[in-house]
Amino acid sequence: MIEESWADMIYLDYTANMPPEEEALQVFLETERRCIGNANAQHQAGRYASELMHSLSQRAAHVLQSKPEEVIFTSGASESNNTAIFGVAQASRHVGRHIITTPLEHPSVSGCLTALQERGWEIDVLDVNRDGTIDVDQLKALLRRDTVLVTLCAVDSELGVMQPVAAASECLRAWPDCRLHVDATQLIGKRPFDLHLADTVSLSGHKFGGLNGSGLLWKRAETAMEPLIHGGASASLYRSGTPAVGLAASLAAALEIAMAERDGRYERVASLNRRLRDALAKRDGVHLHSPESAVPHILNLGVEGIRGTAFRDALDARGVCVSVKSACSVESTPSHAVYALTRNRRQALESWRVSLSHMTTEAEIDEFITIFDGICEELKP
Ligand code: PMP
Repeated sequence: MIEESWADMIYLDYTANMPPEEEALQVFLETERRCIGNANAQHQAGRYASELMHSLSQRAAHVLQSKPEEVIFTSGASESNNTAIFGVAQASRHVGRHIITTPLEHPSVSGCLTALQERGWEIDVLDVNRDGTIDVDQLKALLRRDTVLVTLCAVDSELGVMQPVAAASECLRAWPDCRLHVDATQLIGKRPFDLHLADTVSLSGHKFGGLNGSGLLWKRAETAMEPLIHGGASASLYRSGTPAVGLAASLAAALEIAMAERDGRYERVASLNRRLRDALAKRDGVHLHSPESAVPHILNLGVEGIRGTAFRDALDARGVCVSVKSACSVESTPSHAVYALTRNRRQALESWRVSLSHMTTEAEIDEFITIFDGICEELKP
């Protein structure tokens, strides 16, 4: 539920942040009040917190149809991505130093890969088709004996393109030393996903009704990975530090709700997306960059002759929140993701993103369109 003080705002940036579920907030407060001990401490208050952490791992594992020891609570998907990529690269450096990725990765993935490249790893970036999906034949052709990791964003945050994770996973069967990392941050709670297609999977609480600062890394039990955060044994060998029991509890609660409500919410968002697309398609000079096959939560677009940042600022001045690129990107450069699809620098500079959720209303979409028309009138060259 959006706070009343925001009642006049039209919030269309759910991909950047989703308001927390009330239950996730309540559970956080109750857990923090109840768990006074450090889950790593050897006394009854510590044991209470540690047992609770274990039961939260079990709950999250149950929703994700996996094992509790495969669940690593983190501070968010950026940490999960860093842990998986550096951890797997480091653990398999004796096998090789070749990694394959896509141009639609979040900066918390591409940033790790740039850092590894500077340390001598070789990174290949796949091309994408007109609908943004990777070319699986090209992936097959690029795989080699020293490839240790393929990293794929299941749904990217700028365009909403869904990657063929199952087909990529199938290709890797022939390469037992190569691990598959999937950034499922924008997929979880939207579409069904079988984690077992991958070796490591990142999630973030605040994208599905949990709290900011909570995340999860799923790691297949057999996958070798060195920890990123060292400091002795904790709730997981792979992530030291005092476990954030309240955040883990809020994440488990939000995950259960997001999964239970997933299909109904998806249908609602799909119908809102149709309404928005149909209205925008009637307008001159509007380019819809997200393919029809994208998740309906994300619609990337641009208006000829108006920079994405200028459109976003004009909307902001009228009480509408949208984003240009993902919130974690450098703002002044053209969108890397839109360029990868369109090969058009101008369109990449003009692009911006509307993102919807089950909380969006039809009235908000209609009001957004009216405001959109007014801005086009004012800013069009
Ligand atoms: N991956 C993707 C695809 C994302 O959209 C985001 C958040 N924008 C992240 C990773 C990073 O998530 P967090 O904010 O939890 O670190």
